[in-house]
Amino acid sequence: MGVKKKNFLIDCSEAGICCDKAQYKDASFSEKAKLLIHLIYCKICRKRTFRNSKLTKLIKESKLQSCPEDQKKVWKEQIQTKNTTENP
Ligand SMILES: [Zn+2]
Repeated sequence: MGVKKKNFLIDCSEAGICCDKAQYKDASFSEKAKLLIHLIYCKICRKRTFRNSKLTKLIKESKLQSCPEDQKKVWKEQIQTKNTTENP
């Protein structure tokens, strides 16, 4: 039985790779699909992806506005506060 079943179920490490790729629009359609399916049943990766997209959004915004360091610091603190409240 050397046949590896190719399905859409991936483990957390593969989901992480797909997630990172998706952040930079580097993921293929099947990678995105696999990631989405994984996110349906994996709470941990769902949280991780949510945080990642928030972070990417913040980075993009900060680039667009070329904001001062103070503002970036405030955002960073906001993310950290949120993360700690999410994880008691
Ligand atoms: Zn997972």
